[in-house]
Amino acid sequence: VRVLVVEDDPRISAPLVEGLAREGYEVEAVATGADALVAEHADLVLLDLGLPDLDGRTVCRQLRARSQVPIIVVSARGEEIDRVLLLEMGADDYVVKPFGFRELVARMRAVSRRVTADVARSPTEDISVGSLRIDRRTRTVEYDGRRTSLTPKEYELLVHLATDAGAVKTRDELMHDVWDENWWGSTKTLDVHIASLRKKLDPALIETVRAVGFRLAVRSGPAP
Ligand code: CA
Repeated sequence: VRVLVVEDDPRISAPLVEGLAREGYEVEAVATGADALVAEHADLVLLDLGLPDLDGRTVCRQLRARSQVPIIVVSARGEEIDRVLLLEMGADDYVVKPFGFRELVARMRAVSRRVTADVARSPTEDISVGSLRIDRRTRTVEYDGRRTSLTPKEYELLVHLATDAGAVKTRDELMHDVWDENWWGSTKTLDVHIASLRKKLDPALIETVRAVGFRLAVRSGPAP
């Protein structure tokens, strides 16, 4: 497993790289956002938010825009963590400095497991509902013939809604299936992702079923 460590403070990155190598990870360490964006493929990214050149949030968004690599954000103590913002940036989890090495490795394993499980359980047949096409082999989504780039969680959420289009999925069901119980816990997360899917695809695609949950609208074609 290849890990990209993005951290400008050598007092943190040096022991981290050493510890991860001892755990059997192949580690590449970079100290700037610019280097992070040109780094070779990684299976997981540990991303410090306070970087000398680029805002860590920008780096996170850009990494997410081009791949589905799991990203764990590392933030300084006292730095305000806006969980919703982290989600929007495409981060999968976060730790706060100073963090315990064991805790970090446990989170890395959890995030990797989640991603592996997602891939393993994703069947290969396409989903097609109205103007929506989901190619589960390549995890690509098209709406009205237009290809749309989704974050991993947006994708999972859409697949969950689309596998049984028209059926109401409760908020609990979606939180449990798309996020796990170790996730940050707020169902605000769900609303943020729903809003983002509506924005990226079609405002009318996902219907809110008040006090219950959501469902994918079943239509025979594009909106009139
Ligand atoms: Ca830093």
